[in-house]
Amino acid sequence: MQDCIFCKIGRGEIPSAIVYEDDRIIAFKDINPLAPVHLLLIPREHLTNILDINEGNVDLIGHIHLVANKLAKEAGIAEKGFRIVTNCNEEGGQIIFHMHYHLIGGEELKNFA
Ligand code: AMP
Ligand code: ZN
Repeated sequence: MQDCIFCKIGRGEIPSAIVYEDDRIIAFKDINPLAPVHLLLIPREHLTNILDINEGNVDLIGHIHLVANKLAKEAGIAEKGFRIVTNCNEEGGQIIFHMHYHLIGGEELKNFA
């Protein structure tokens, strides 16, 4: 996806505040944080949203959760609590159509979506 902003971040063509990366995923700070800790975890591969998850790539979700677990601990929000959210399509609040997981915490969370 040539013009996808998160594909560009994954390829390093747009700068981002990267906190983790490996061959499959990258995690970076949300540019408009909704809480003291607000990270986005994305696959480097372009998937539109979780509707693109299938038997062939479902391992990616487990990997994202393992890394989210590690990043929550590193950010110091694991004990008190945090939230992982992935929005799907318009009524789900999805604005960027490259699958991403929000990792949000660092304060008492209200009804983030
Ligand atoms: P969603 O509504 O789930 O599609 O969320 C998209 C998120 O991407 C929002 O929280 C934005 O603040 C965030 N975002 C958009 N562009 C960038 C960017 N260049 N770097 C970091 N975060 C971004
Ligand atoms: Zn993309």
